[in-house]
Amino acid sequence: MAKDYYGILGVSRDASAEDIKRAYRKLARQYHPDVNPDPAAADKFKDITAAYEVLSDDQKRQIVDLGGDPLAPGGAPGGGPGGAGPFVGFQDIMDAFFGAAAGSRGPRSRTRPGADAILRLELDLAETAFGVEAPITVDTAVICTTCSGAGTAAGTHLATCEACGGRGEVQSVQRTFLGQVVSSRPCVACQGYGTVIPHPCPTCGGDGRVRTRRSLTVKIPAGVEDGMRIRLAQQGEVGPGGGTAGDLYVEIHERPHDVYSRKGDDLHCRVTVPMTAAALGTRLTIRTLDSDEPVDVKPGTQPGATLRLRGRGVPHLRGTGRGDLYVHLDVRTPTKLDADQERTLREFAKSRGEEVAELSKQGGFFSRMRDAFNGHA
Ligand code: ZN
Repeated sequence: MAKDYYGILGVSRDASAEDIKRAYRKLARQYHPDVNPDPAAADKFKDITAAYEVLSDDQKRQIVDLGGDPLAPGGAPGGGPGGAGPFVGFQDIMDAFFGAAAGSRGPRSRTRPGADAILRLELDLAETAFGVEAPITVDTAVICTTCSGAGTAAGTHLATCEACGGRGEVQSVQRTFLGQVVSSRPCVACQGYGTVIPHPCPTCGGDGRVRTRRSLTVKIPAGVEDGMRIRLAQQGEVGPGGGTAGDLYVEIHERPHDVYSRKGDDLHCRVTVPMTAAALGTRLTIRTLDSDEPVDVKPGTQPGATLRLRGRGVPHLRGTGRGDLYVHLDVRTPTKLDADQERTLREFAKSRGEEVAELSKQGGFFSRMRDAFNGHA
């Protein structure tokens, strides 16, 4: 049974040479062992490469169309990855398709931009609300002051790499199923720089940077929120060869507050008031983030009532003004009454015409409730 080479590439039997090329390029991107670590991908790549080898060759494709298999033992001669040909690197395949001019990449620079860094900063609610100048300690690479980033020992210079003649890469020519593939690889002797450091700087070993711990002060504006990031330009990692530093991001983490919970720029808190105060009304003093505010609880306030203190929340990060402070009132019913208090409450209820049962007696409140329900049933 001949292999279904068209099926392997996912193309129809009347696919053009260009279709086949495109299909192979797409699958190679997906399954080449250089880009796909899955061991199963290597087998898959062998299959698709064999299919491409067959279908891109007019003679071999004809054999397939006649029901034969050019790669089967006794089929048409020829190596290729389906047989025992050389293994072709992913980049070489791409180069062969796109015609990348070998050698055009040239030596790479020793100086490269540095990476960004991130740091967590824990702040209290008062600090995120009103802003703070926070001291931070940063561990990053900084430029080596001994060599100013050059990587060379004092009085010495970079030398041209003898292995590649300064080109930074070496070329090789491979004969493959794609034809002659000229591939260039970074020079091993100089790691592609085209230069070597005969006498590295003793401080940084030639890297042009050293790791160090610095202290900085970061200015946190008023109104920031948990999870926000403050960007400090070029305070991140210095790059190899003393390259421009990346940015430092300070990520804000707001510690939970004992009293206030925050929703955007509004604050919420709960205050307990006795039943009597809720009934009669009272004046409370609410300690906000930055002031003591007298607040009137109106007579007849119900459980769950909310008081709103305008402009006593968190300052808006952009623009002016502040969020609000919401005070949620928990009306507390007394739990233990002495004999006098109980009598007073009963008299109070009686004066309002409210029926209050004696829980201790048989046929009390609950049984009468039941009777009431049954009466309606
Ligand atoms: Zn140095």
